[in-house]
Parts: sequence; C-alpha cells; structure tokens
Amino acid sequence: KERTLGMIKPDGISGNYTDRIKQVILESGFEISKEMVIQLDEENAAEFYAEHSSRSFFTNLIRYMTSGPVLVMVLEKEDAVARWRDLIGPTDAGKAKISHPHSIRAMCGVDLEKNCVHGSDSHQSAKREIAFFFKEAPSD
Ligand code: ATP
Repeated sequence: KERTLGMIKPDGISGNYTDRIKQVILESGFEISKEMVIQLDEENAAEFYAEHSSRSFFTNLIRYMTSGPVLVMVLEKEDAVARWRDLIGPTDAGKAKISHPHSIRAMCGVDLEKNCVHGSDSHQSAKREIAFFFKEAPSD
C-alpha cells in the first residue's frame, strides 16, 4: 500500500474538527498507521514549507502554521497520495465549499490560507514529509 502524510492544521485542531476528519479518513478506507501532535516552531515550519520561501504569503503561512499544534498522520491506502488530495479538495477552502462540497476543506476550512488540512502532493513529497516528522532517532 502507498503512504502519504496527512496533517490537521492549527485551525482544524482549534475548531475541534479532529474527530470528524479522522472519521472521514477511516470511512474512506485509509489506515492511520502513525500519528503525532506537534507544535511547530518557526524554524520547522519554514523547513517544511521551504518550497514556498520566496512567496509573498510565506510570512503569513509560517505565522498560521505555528499558531497552535498540528496533528500529523501517516495515511495508508492504495494510491494514497492522490486519493488523500482528492478527499481534502482544492487549496482555497472558500472555493471548495462551492466546487467540492463533500471535501474536507469544504467542511472545516475558511479560505486560501486557512484550509485546515495538508496532504503531500507527490510520492516524493510524501517520503520527505513522512521522514520529516517520523524519522526515528538513531540508536547508539
Ligand atoms: P498543502 O501543501 O498545505 O497541502 P496545497 O498543496 O493545496 O496545500 P500550496 O500551494 O502547497 O497548497 O500552499 C501551501 C499552503 O500555503 C496552503 O495550503 C495554504 O495554507 C497556504 N497558501 C497557499 N497559497 C496562498 C495564498 N495565495 N495566500 C495565503 N496562503 C496561501
């Protein structure tokens, strides 16, 4: 089975959407094989979103992503990367409410920034992002 990284962002946690989002995940046939709640600091958030470092919204993005804890999950299913992106819906949660009313972002997101969940956008990103959060400490 394929693995992807799913994340409930700070607005999803503070809005109390965690249980509803997990219910949708399980009903959609994903297995949650690992999970962890973590408070990102500016340094980790900037590293996680390094590809966006030159974008105008980067400072706001880092402020948003460090505004409270996030829940990161390893999600497993056939074709997990694409299926999780389908399930979360488009980046702009405001638009998702109209075009993808059954998506997770339509359920709990607000706008282009506060879109309550994240999903890896490729197999390669999934590998990087899972290792970013779940790399085991080397045993010495
Ligand atoms: P994610 O990577 O979080 O799953 P995505 O792949 O749908 O989202 P990206 O284009 O990678 O979207 O943007 C990363 C995140 O940055 C978005 O999820 C959103 O929170 C924020 N973001 C993206 N574009 C904007 C924007 N124009 N203004 C404000 N925030 C934005």
